[in-house]
Amino acid sequence: MSRIRTKGIHSFFINTKINEKRLELKNTYLCGVLTQIHLILKRSFLFIFSFLACYVLFAQGVEREIPSAIDTLATEDKFTRIILLEDFTWKYLDLGKPVFDKTEMYTGWDTSSIHAFKELKLEEFPEEITLVLADSLKGFCCPITEEVRSRYAFRRTRDHRGTDITLDKGDSIRVALNGVVRVMELSRYTGGYGNLLIVRHPGGLETYYGHLSKFLVKPGEIVKAGEVIGLGGNTGRSTGAHLHFETRYKGKAFDPERIIDFEKGILRDSVFVLRKHYFSIYSHYGQTDEESLAASQRIIHTIRSGDTLGALAIKYGTTVRQICAWNNISSKTVLRIGRRLIVR
Ligand SMILES: [Zn+2]
Repeated sequence: MSRIRTKGIHSFFINTKINEKRLELKNTYLCGVLTQIHLILKRSFLFIFSFLACYVLFAQGVEREIPSAIDTLATEDKFTRIILLEDFTWKYLDLGKPVFDKTEMYTGWDTSSIHAFKELKLEEFPEEITLVLADSLKGFCCPITEEVRSRYAFRRTRDHRGTDITLDKGDSIRVALNGVVRVMELSRYTGGYGNLLIVRHPGGLETYYGHLSKFLVKPGEIVKAGEVIGLGGNTGRSTGAHLHFETRYKGKAFDPERIIDFEKGILRDSVFVLRKHYFSIYSHYGQTDEESLAASQRIIHTIRSGDTLGALAIKYGTTVRQICAWNNISSKTVLRIGRRLIVR
């Protein structure tokens, strides 16, 4: 019995030892796990801390790379500016100089003659010419957005081959499209245009700016749509300050209102199909192509000594009534020598 008891006590001690050993192992294991977790947390913390530190340094670095501009300076090239930055550094700003096909732009180039391509006859022109006026909305600027004072039209003694826009003397005149200044001519040499600027654009189109009070560009200068090229005025054959604006393709004029809505200050379309009959002084914006074609075939007679409406009607195979209607006159109107009448 006692042996059994002894054995029982012994086994109790042995079991206790085993349990202690197990507990010790368990504790060691738990310690290990905790140590690992601690290490992981410590490393994660170090990682997050390093990441945040790098981020702060990087953000500061980025801010340092793009400091705010405090001033801009002009350079010799008007399409390049220098920007001064708040950290006392500077950099160039490229404003985008227009680029042209030089052969196309400078063919028939003459800075001393108002109308280019004088040798080209209307018969040599194709029936249709497609002009790409601007490749984007930024490619056009209305020279001055104001009321149209006088339109492209036949007049009694002298054709009006442009559009007159009301302005105040000194108003800024902006170039309509990218191009190169071809002519800058003073009033006394332009026969009525006043101080005149002519700018050539890609594709053979030219725009004329007449009656200016001041030039702000010179021949050969590249200009970008919207750039102020001169100031409006009243020079030349002009009553009251206004801009006389013309559009010509290879020297031949057509109604500028075909491409520009001056009162809204917009280009009607970026692509314009110019038809041969549009070069007629009787062809204008607002007509159908049939009306324009019929109008372009009109015949003009300049009144000479002894002319009467009856004689003109017989000569041109029409009636006095019809001649009166075409010219907005009555049969009793006195025909002054030199006056021009539409007779067919
Ligand atoms: Zn005019």
